[in-house]
Amino acid sequence: MPIVELLGGKFRDSVRVYADCQVEPSMDFSAIKRVVEGVLERGFTALKIDADLGAYTRDYRRAKGVPKDRFNYTADAWEHERMVQLVEMVTTAAGEDAAVAVDVHTRLDVTSAIRLVRDLEPFHLLWLEEPVPPENVAAMREVKRSTTTPICAGENLYLRHGFRDLIEQQAVDIVMPDIPKCGGLSECRKIANLAEIYYMPFAPHNVASPIGTMASAHVCASVPNFLVLEFHWLHRDYWSTITTDKEDIIKDGAIALSDRPGIGVELDEAVARQYQFPGTTWFE
Ligand SMILES: [Mg+2]
Repeated sequence: MPIVELLGGKFRDSVRVYADCQVEPSMDFSAIKRVVEGVLERGFTALKIDADLGAYTRDYRRAKGVPKDRFNYTADAWEHERMVQLVEMVTTAAGEDAAVAVDVHTRLDVTSAIRLVRDLEPFHLLWLEEPVPPENVAAMREVKRSTTTPICAGENLYLRHGFRDLIEQQAVDIVMPDIPKCGGLSECRKIANLAEIYYMPFAPHNVASPIGTMASAHVCASVPNFLVLEFHWLHRDYWSTITTDKEDIIKDGAIALSDRPGIGVELDEAVARQYQFPGTTWFE
């Protein structure tokens, strides 16, 4: 049977996918527009960018003779304004019909995060991802309660118990377990079910191959509160050749589930071996 049937059956036949795209902090509007238009032309209706500036800020500060401490979480006025400008350029390039999510990878302190999420409210983001680290639920909740920008977190949490406080204390608006990593398909469905009690959407993090992505799609189809699933292989040209079907499983920004047994796609081992990262073992 298809896995989705073993998980209880389908709420939907098609799973919406968003593309993580390579917008760099140093890009100007025309460069950003090219990246965003490339994603939309492939049929995606939602995308995500990284807005934490990291090395870009450190280079800027070094040039000004005021080095930035890489371990400090405070965003200064320049960094704050640059993050807001970046989001403004991306949402302008994306237009009204495409949804934009923004990730800052837990890099801010609470006050920097609150200032940012409030100033991003006019852009109606799909979500702002992990403004602060998710382990301190009270700090995350403080950020969430300060703004109408939806807050999403959870890509590095594990099992139901790792998500319990975050969900029960309503410290985020959206949960984003990484399905292959958080404890498996059945475990992840339970996390989604717990979130559903709080009317909280479920938008899984995903950096997997077509195999892991399709497995994740089965969970997404089986829960009512699914929002959108990540796709992170935009720049790997073997996305469509690493499976035996030799087809892109994503069409028009969505994955249609088949009636095949199990996951429904199979790895082409010869292609996978070709792209195996040096120094890694083969399923040992
Ligand atoms: Mg993230």
